[in-house]
Amino acid sequence: MNHDQARYGDDERYEPLLSEKDGKEVDPGEGSILPDGLTRDSLELPELSEPELARHYTRLSQMNWSVESGPYPLGSCTMKYNPTFTEVVAADPNAAVHPDRDPSTVQGTLELLHGLQEYLAEVGGMDAVTLQPPAGAAGEFAGITVAKAYHDANGNDRNEVVVPASAHGTNFATAAMAGYDVVELPSDEDGRVDVEALAAAVSEDTAALMLTNPNTVGLFERDIEEIAGIVHDAGGLLYYDGANLNALLGRARPGDMGFDVMHYNVHKTFATPHGGGGPGAGPVGVVEELAEFLPRPQVREAPTAADGDAGDGGDEVEYELFDPERSVGKVHGFQGNWLVLVKAYAYIHRLGHEGLLDASAKAVLNANYLAELVEFDVPYGPFHHEFAATAGDRDAADVAKRMLDYGVHPPTTKWPEMVPEAMLTEPTEAESKSSLEDLAAAFNAAAADADGELASAPSKTTARRIDQAGAARNPRLSWRALDGE
Ligand SMILES: *Cc1c(COP(=O)(O)O)cnc(C)c1O
Repeated sequence: MNHDQARYGDDERYEPLLSEKDGKEVDPGEGSILPDGLTRDSLELPELSEPELARHYTRLSQMNWSVESGPYPLGSCTMKYNPTFTEVVAADPNAAVHPDRDPSTVQGTLELLHGLQEYLAEVGGMDAVTLQPPAGAAGEFAGITVAKAYHDANGNDRNEVVVPASAHGTNFATAAMAGYDVVELPSDEDGRVDVEALAAAVSEDTAALMLTNPNTVGLFERDIEEIAGIVHDAGGLLYYDGANLNALLGRARPGDMGFDVMHYNVHKTFATPHGGGGPGAGPVGVVEELAEFLPRPQVREAPTAADGDAGDGGDEVEYELFDPERSVGKVHGFQGNWLVLVKAYAYIHRLGHEGLLDASAKAVLNANYLAELVEFDVPYGPFHHEFAATAGDRDAADVAKRMLDYGVHPPTTKWPEMVPEAMLTEPTEAESKSSLEDLAAAFNAAAADADGELASAPSKTTARRIDQAGAARNPRLSWRALDGE
């Protein structure tokens, strides 16, 4: 019995690999196509028993922090818990389809993708959605590229994108990569978009304003309709950075606020895997006028057999792939990262409208409750899903390191810059009241510690204070990298 038979039995939907089907052994061939210097006769892999291996990986996992170890309030990142049922759905053998199969044989796959396009369009108030981009930042780039294609097609020669100073770094990078000059917009004293400064910044050169709402300190842009009017009157488009959409789920929609194009961070809003360089997804939604420029292909309902004389096929719906008329092209292979999309679909489907409302309610309630409990100053407010406390005359990074010693993951530090020594804190909807109280206790214990204790923290973690820039630029990815030291 081969592996596939063991897993799937005789279910003929799961055909074994070609070579096995033909009853032939896979023949690696005589001689090697690799040059001699690149081959070897033996490979000294460690010989370990199963318990030794299990202990090795368990120990490694315990050296890391994860949302399954405790709260992870890393502001802006929405590190909420990914419910296991989405993994179960994605592990279903029926989900394991090759992306290049003929659409007639994968109608269920297309139905799910179509369903997700519809869910996202509904949640965002958009008219059309592509699922292709593989991350939020990739979605930003795809979205701004679509906006640019729209302007080009209309003979609009515009070279500027306006971005608030408090925006996520990817917004500046996206605009620059798409070939635009970035115009930075200051915040007003309430921490929101300075509407007068916006009016002065936009002109016939403005291609788009990129904005997230609530913004990066969790404040809702109350003047969003006026902001949209200013940008639209100047002939620009409104881009919505969807990273904070968990604050609004089921309550307010970017499309209704006047946004023309947006991305969805499904790992932030709909509990799919997050970070670590693994596969992600950053679908993009647009209003009608921009739909023909979306990346290709997309999924749509095909004309049904009932149009002919097929008799009983009356209510059978079929799905097909199509290329939007003036598509900007492909931004990823096939339909994007399929299994991530399965998880996003499962999450939305399972929660439903009531569940999404509950998620946004808890995201907002949790942030405000925690903001009340922490003894650091918290400027602005009331908040939506996150807040930026200030470490005042202490170093926010030191406070964060000390929080590791108290057994919680610290917030994002020193960003956004509008709050000095910021500690951007986003507990997410996943935390209970008691875990919020534990988090607050860690903040407050660090606040009460002496400067020396902060400066030498962390003292209880596997790795002590690390060279953060060095860790990113010269990462050591195996034990062997430590040899010879
Ligand atoms: C996370 C984030 C992004 C980028 O999304 P990725 O999926 O990490 O690429 C963009 N904007 C904001 C505000 C974010 O928090």
